[in-house]
Amino acid sequence: MHITIIGAGIGGLTLGLALHRLGISCDIYESNAELKPVGVGINILPHASQFLCKELGLEEELSKLAVLTQESIFFNRFGQKIYSEPAGKFAGYDYPQFSIHRHDLLQTLLNAYLLRVGSEHLHLGYAALSVDASKGTTIFQIKQSGEILEITSDCVVACDGLHSVIRKQLHPNEGAPKYSGVNMWRGVTRAPAFLTGASMVRAGWLTHGKMVIYPIRNQIDTAGNQLINWVAEIETPKYLKRDWNKKGHLDDFIGAFEDWQFDWLDVPALMRNADTILEFPMIDQDPLPFWTKELTTLLGDAAHPMYPRGSNGAGQSILDARCLAELLAQDQPVSQALIAYEKKRLSETAQVVLANRINPPDAILREVYERSSDQPFDQIDNIISAQELSQISNNYKKITGSDPASLGR
Ligand SMILES: Cc1cc2nc3c(=O)[nH]c(=O)nc-3n(C[C@H](O)[C@H](O)[C@H](O)COP(=O)(O)OP(=O)(O)OC[C@H]3O[C@@H](n4cnc5c(N)ncnc54)[C@H](O)[C@@H]3O)c2cc1C
Repeated sequence: MHITIIGAGIGGLTLGLALHRLGISCDIYESNAELKPVGVGINILPHASQFLCKELGLEEELSKLAVLTQESIFFNRFGQKIYSEPAGKFAGYDYPQFSIHRHDLLQTLLNAYLLRVGSEHLHLGYAALSVDASKGTTIFQIKQSGEILEITSDCVVACDGLHSVIRKQLHPNEGAPKYSGVNMWRGVTRAPAFLTGASMVRAGWLTHGKMVIYPIRNQIDTAGNQLINWVAEIETPKYLKRDWNKKGHLDDFIGAFEDWQFDWLDVPALMRNADTILEFPMIDQDPLPFWTKELTTLLGDAAHPMYPRGSNGAGQSILDARCLAELLAQDQPVSQALIAYEKKRLSETAQVVLANRINPPDAILREVYERSSDQPFDQIDNIISAQELSQISNNYKKITGSDPASLGR
């Protein structure tokens, strides 16, 4: 059996490694001529790190590059602590939560792929134009020469991300992407460690401004600074096109955070000292009625673009890759494996897409914002009980498959 994978992002490379582990050959075709260090921070929670560590054997390498998150902690916009819970191995999981630069994760997957599968099975500068689903044929354009090429294999897996051309081909009448009404500005800053040095902070609320802040690289200089990833999210009526590389401007959002000078972090200083600022709208798409057509299927963001509110974009693409590889390795026709993959993963990921709209983990912040009328509190217990807070967090874990029971502990 031989598989064509479109896209060498996190989903495509993980699928390539997962197939290789099970003795199935593949080729990956990526439209970029070079895999550049683009993007900023990503979190990999234990339900996805389990596969990367246990099955793909990448724990040691990832642990050297990433920050092993110790806690998830929530504050209101006055810097008052609302709730915290341990994360990854610190919560008793067998596998860590990695807070990592997207490039470090991608490079780790790429290195493993080149070493295990071989550079001859990675084709850069090949842009997929369309598929013939009945034959397992993909039409590519080679970017450098403009040449058009047809490649046929046992099946085609489109891991071509948010703007997937294959998704558009399979669903030509799909509605427009859904803008949440929230715009995001994402940055990375070299700064001293804050709180535990491995804390993932969520603070404020979207109406006035919400922040997600976590370190993604340790000891980046002789002063022992970290690379800190941050995302500012504010309700903004205007709709912007999704572009991972769009530059953001400090003046468009810093006003909302000027007084966020807490004893645990000076947030405006963090923003002002950023190396890069990118802007991205919080957009998703309704779950699709199907992913699989004959010998073609979708995986990762191509299949289920979601709001980045619960650290599940990369994680769910890793879970897709694991599931699909395992089904393809079973003794059954390829077309049946693709249908079984869709049957399992479409409904699971649809629940995550919908939960991210209404009740992601930061629903904790919304509850406190509303119940406290956006005022400082004397005691958090007077606003919401510890039990209710942990229930919001645990419900989301159940939906995404990251609760301890789903992971077998
Ligand atoms: C440039 C970039 C920056 C990102 N930055 C962040 C970030 O900072 N934080 C975050 O949480 N998530 C980020 N993401 C998204 C994150 O990587 C994904 O949400 C998640 O990993 C799901 O992975 P995926 O493989 O489905 O998609 P992606 O990781 O997006 O990979 C898709 C791949 O397919 C390739 N491709 C697209 N069209 C074609 C085509 N027609 N033919 C061949 N190849 C094609 C793309 O070049 C890309 O390499 C970024 C994605 C990209 C592409």
